[in-house]
Amino acid sequence: SPADPTDPDQPSIVALDDGKPTAARVYDVMLDGKDNYAVDRQVAEASLSVMPELKEIALHNRAVLRRVVHHLAAEQGITQFLDLGSGLPTVGNTHEVAQAANPDAKVVYVDIDPIVLAHGRALLEDNPNTKVVTADIRKPLDMLEHPEVTSHIDFDKPVCVMLVGILHHILDEEDPEGIVATLRNAVPSGSYFFITNFTRLSDTPESEELERVLLSQLGTGRVRTPAELARYFEGLDLLAPGIVPLPLWRPEEIITDATTVGVRFMTGGVARKP
Ligand code: SAM
Repeated sequence: SPADPTDPDQPSIVALDDGKPTAARVYDVMLDGKDNYAVDRQVAEASLSVMPELKEIALHNRAVLRRVVHHLAAEQGITQFLDLGSGLPTVGNTHEVAQAANPDAKVVYVDIDPIVLAHGRALLEDNPNTKVVTADIRKPLDMLEHPEVTSHIDFDKPVCVMLVGILHHILDEEDPEGIVATLRNAVPSGSYFFITNFTRLSDTPESEELERVLLSQLGTGRVRTPAELARYFEGLDLLAPGIVPLPLWRPEEIITDATTVGVRFMTGGVARKP
C-alpha cells in the first residue's frame, strides 16, 4: 500500500482525515471519483445545489488541461511541467498527456493534500520522469526549493507552470498575485503559465452564491473578476485566444452555446514569459 503510517514521509490517508472537507476530495466528487468522504460529498452537494453545472465545469477544466499540455509538449517543445495543485489522479493526467507527446517529458505534481502523494506514488511507481510532492504554494520559495522539485526540474530551461483550478483556493490575504509573481521570476524566458480559475459572472447570481457556500463550508473558493484574473498574466505574452471560457480555448469541437454558466464559469489562458 502507498500509505504506510510508520513512514513519516508517506502519511496515512486515514491519519489525515480530520473530519474536514478538502478541495482535492470535493473536486474528486465532481469528477465522480472514489477518493472522498461524506464531509466532501456534503460540500459538493451544497455547491451543486447552487450551480448544477459544476460537474460539467470540472470536465471542461480537465479537457482544456489535456489540450494545453498536448499543445505545449507536442508543438512548443516544452519538456518540463510543474503542475501546482494537481489534485487526485484522474483521467488524462498531465504526465500521461505530456509523455504521450514526448516520453522524456518531466512532470512534477505538487499538492498541499497528502492524499495526492499517497495515490500518486502507487500510480507512478514505474515512471521515473514523474514525481509527486506535498507542498504549499503559499510558500512558493520553499516549494521551489523542495529537493524533488530541484532534482527533477531544471530551472535554466523553460518550464510550464500550471495553476489549474488552484488560485481560487488561495485567499486574497494570501496574495495569489504575489505567488504568481514569485513563480514568474523563478522560471526562464520561454516558460509558460497555464492558469484557470472560477470567474465572477456579473449577469447571474450563482457565481457569488457558490463563493459564499465554498468559503463557509470549505474555507476557500474565491470567485474572481476577469480583471483580477488578467493580473495573473501580467508581464507575460498571452497565446491566442487569450483569457477565455475554458471550452473556447482552442476547442476540438464546435461549442453550440457559449452563453451558459457551465461554459463561462471557469476561464483561463496560456501565456509565455518573454
Ligand atoms: N489542477 C487539478 C485540476 O484542475 O484538475 C486539480 C484542481 S483541485 C480543484 C485544486 C487542488 O489544489 C486541490 O487538489 C488542492 O489540494 C490543491 N491546493 C489548494 N491549496 C493549495 C496550496 N496552498 N498548495 C498546494 N496545493 C493546493
